[in-house]
Amino acid sequence: MLNLANTNHTKKIHDAASDMVAYGQAFYAKGWNLATSSNYSAVVSEEPLQVLMTASGKHKGELTTSDFVLVDESLKVVEPDGKPSTTNLKPSAEAALHLAIARRAGVGAVLHTHSIWSTILSERYFADKAVTLSGYEMLKALAGIKTHETTVRIAILENSQDMDEVAEIVNAKIDSGEIEHGFLLKGHGLYTWAASLAAARNQVEALEFLFEVVGRSGGS
Ligand SMILES: [Zn+2]
Repeated sequence: MLNLANTNHTKKIHDAASDMVAYGQAFYAKGWNLATSSNYSAVVSEEPLQVLMTASGKHKGELTTSDFVLVDESLKVVEPDGKPSTTNLKPSAEAALHLAIARRAGVGAVLHTHSIWSTILSERYFADKAVTLSGYEMLKALAGIKTHETTVRIAILENSQDMDEVAEIVNAKIDSGEIEHGFLLKGHGLYTWAASLAAARNQVEALEFLFEVVGRSGGS
């Protein structure tokens, strides 16, 4: 059991916030999270579960380390010591989906973007239920992939405002292997996750690159 009051825990929260501030600026510069769209989360404690998330309504290109909320396993906003927080900040509307993924073994961070190419492809390939990425060297940036001679299908799900319902579908599809590195919500954007924030950031960059390649070229 982690001592939530210790300084290592506080430092971990601050470092995760700093990383997500930097990613917000970088992704904004790429046009992947304009205005207040998108959200990011990082697991800062596994037992008990605590997840640091971007607060609702924040512009992702202008985040500061104060623009985050810490939630527990039931999505309650807490202080680092686990006590209820008095902050006015709220988790984003998509927090339940982040938490559902963050709860899974081996997930250290979940990143969500609203890019132009992910939005276009999620509609163009919706009838196929996935965007197929095949034969690209950039696929090696995804966790567990060692060669370009592979095919990755990024599932496309119907968009919804009921994130509990989406979370249930996502968990079932991860369990069945239909979703591995991430998924697209139709007309909405990308969700991807990895063992660490840096690894999840790399996957966002790789997948957004691949979506743009497929989008511009018409497919692999
Ligand atoms: Zn979104």
